[in-house]
Amino acid sequence: MNLQAQMSKELRDKQIFDKARNFAYDYIDGIDEMQVFPTKQSLENLKVFDEALPEQSGSALAVLGQLHQYGGPATIAQTGGRYFGFVNGGAVPASLGVKWLADVWDQCGGLYLTSPINAKLESVCEKWLREIFGLPQETVAGFVSGTSMANLCGLAAARYQLLKNQGWDINEKGLNGAPSIRILAHEQVHASVKKTLAMLGFGRANIEWIPADEQGRIVVEALPSLDNTCLLLLQAGNVNTGAYDDFDSVCERANTAGAWVHVDGAFGLWAAAVQELKYLTKGFEKADSWAVDGHKTLNTPYDSGIILCKHQNALISALQASGEYLVFSEQRDPLLYTPELSKRSRAIELWATLKYLGKTGVDEMILGFHQRAKQLEEGLADVGFEILNEVVFNQVLVRLQNDKQTSKVIQYVQQSGECWVGPSSWNGQVVIRISVCSWVTTEEDIRKTISIFQQASNAVKLEQTIHD
Ligand SMILES: *Cc1c(COP(=O)(O)O)cnc(C)c1O
Repeated sequence: MNLQAQMSKELRDKQIFDKARNFAYDYIDGIDEMQVFPTKQSLENLKVFDEALPEQSGSALAVLGQLHQYGGPATIAQTGGRYFGFVNGGAVPASLGVKWLADVWDQCGGLYLTSPINAKLESVCEKWLREIFGLPQETVAGFVSGTSMANLCGLAAARYQLLKNQGWDINEKGLNGAPSIRILAHEQVHASVKKTLAMLGFGRANIEWIPADEQGRIVVEALPSLDNTCLLLLQAGNVNTGAYDDFDSVCERANTAGAWVHVDGAFGLWAAAVQELKYLTKGFEKADSWAVDGHKTLNTPYDSGIILCKHQNALISALQASGEYLVFSEQRDPLLYTPELSKRSRAIELWATLKYLGKTGVDEMILGFHQRAKQLEEGLADVGFEILNEVVFNQVLVRLQNDKQTSKVIQYVQQSGECWVGPSSWNGQVVIRISVCSWVTTEEDIRKTISIFQQASNAVKLEQTIHD
């Protein structure tokens, strides 16, 4: 049988899909028993992938089988209830099911012409996101791979506009000889923001760092006077503490001056969609652009990031490197709002997640993260951990007496296989950064986690006593 005939058979007899489905079901059913981080053996077994590129085409089932056998055990069990590293989040079942179907469609999401359904669902998501976040009517959305890319888009739009304010068309004249932009950044901006600035032609020496208070919120009084050449970089959800900047005051001043405010809200922007938590983002709607992820707090599958921007012309002009003379078709062309042309039709899963959860579902799920984080905060304080942040959202920062003990607790917890947390640095100290952000996590998961932390702390202290 030639290759085409073989693939045609594989498509029609569907064994490969049945197998994939069964393997996926095994994975779902086994997630509770799985070690949260792969075992040493599973990691060692990854060497089976170190093989030469095959000379001949092979069997689809064998390819799938190898992935299941050796790949599955080397995954992080982040779809279970006790993965608290980074702010990863789980995946809402409706969004996964829809993604499976849409994967079979294999739509090129760049144009209306290449995927009307993706273009349609982007428009719907844009409208729903405006509504759920309470953003201005003129806000447009671009659907990108994550917040890193959303930050890049937002800052490119800002650069376009702030140079235009000074009579300079960046698309025409470039950066050589351009007037300067004054960049005022929260000193604890996410690494992706710094990277993005560099990619856009701004080095570290071009940035004025605005200090943060003890919770990691920008000190508003430390801002210099603003004008329409200023770009302000704020955070909805500090990477460590989950703290929110005082958008109300900063945006008020920025708006009066004609400065551009960009908000990195990768995981934290979702507080705006929760009745009990929306006070945290007060006034954020007065900013100019916002970056947010679907794949973190909203629990869509990867990759799902969104750039929201109040200035359609600036965003499109920046991303298309075109002039002011855009011709819009009747229908939405997704590529206008992102740097990519061919792209995954990722709005489909976002749409499915929002449609499934609805406003009250989003509220309930995300408030749940906050409640579990509070439960964790209380429980860990009770067993002797120092809590370093006000737990306003889903982040809990804790430590033991010193850096050494804290690092050892992390090691113990990671090796337990029962849950996973990572280290961070806060005020020059080693801390444990815990992010509660999966719909799967229950109160029981939190109790179990607290008990593992307690065991870790006991073990570390016992070891210390023996040493002393
Ligand atoms: C995760 C994160 C980013 C980067 O987002 P990706 O989706 O990983 O690209 C940016 N800012 C903050 C605050 C984040 O938590």
